Amino acid sequence: MVAEGIAPTADRTLGFMVPARNARGQVVRLDATLNAILAAHPYPEPLIRLLAEALTLTALVGATMRQDDGQVTVQAQAKGGVVELLACDWRAGELRGYLKFDEQAVVSEAMSLPALFGKGYLAITVDQVSSEERWQGIVPLEGHSLAAALEGWFSQSEQLPTLMRIGVAGSAENGGMGGWLAGGLLIQHLARAEIGGERLDAGEQHPDWEHVAALAATTTADELTDIDLSAEQLLWRLFHEEQVRVVPGPTPVKGCRCSAAHIRDVLMRFPESERAEMRDDKGLISVDCQFCSRVFGIAA
Ligand SMILES: [Zn+2]
Repeated sequence: MVAEGIAPTADRTLGFMVPARNARGQVVRLDATLNAILAAHPYPEPLIRLLAEALTLTALVGATMRQDDGQVTVQAQAKGGVVELLACDWRAGELRGYLKFDEQAVVSEAMSLPALFGKGYLAITVDQVSSEERWQGIVPLEGHSLAAALEGWFSQSEQLPTLMRIGVAGSAENGGMGGWLAGGLLIQHLARAEIGGERLDAGEQHPDWEHVAALAATTTADELTDIDLSAEQLLWRLFHEEQVRVVPGPTPVKGCRCSAAHIRDVLMRFPESERAEMRDDKGLISVDCQFCSRVFGIAA
């Protein structure tokens, strides 16, 4: 199962199944894509790690979607903590994200979600574009990590026992640019969905799930961000006694929809009187993209 010749570091997603256990999962690694996204934002290190974790979660869920053209949005809105807003989305491998935070606040490592966000919630929205299906989950920002919050939501609301592990490696020292690497593993048990008609009261107690979850739970942050350990090698290490099928998924890239042409299209939907109010003395409308930290001066 170990694939030779596949670059172990580059940005990628790898879907997998453990058919005998009715489990499916995803391995994600974010490298150049993560650094390209972070380069637009001079955040303190703990917030870089938080955004990297959120981007990895978004990619894990995004790569799990049945359709390539779907979109996954992960957004946290909060009051009374350091972070007011965090937004990430994924569409066909295109990933982007940013956060807004209180620059006066003291940020330290290992802050709990309530310390980071105060009171708030995480909304995860999945849009399947071709079938126009949309579903949204709302998760309270409690506990010690975004991954744990999302795991709980999948298990309780979706009745899809889920385990997630995320690792973020790097440092903001020496400017910190270019040196971040994140990795994630998601595994879910499909007993209910896959066994036609007959509902198994499987849940967290199903022996197949207990088995694969126990194996997957041994994954460490170091393994997820080990530049010399490919996704295939990681799966082999975890599930070498099982038959595992792998399905390469889309390669994550930094993507944003903030082209000048797109923004102009949006602006042209406003009535002329409103556009007149938005124009500066050079006749341009200034629009900024929070994802890219870019300001566009648009003639519209
Ligand atoms: Zn943008």
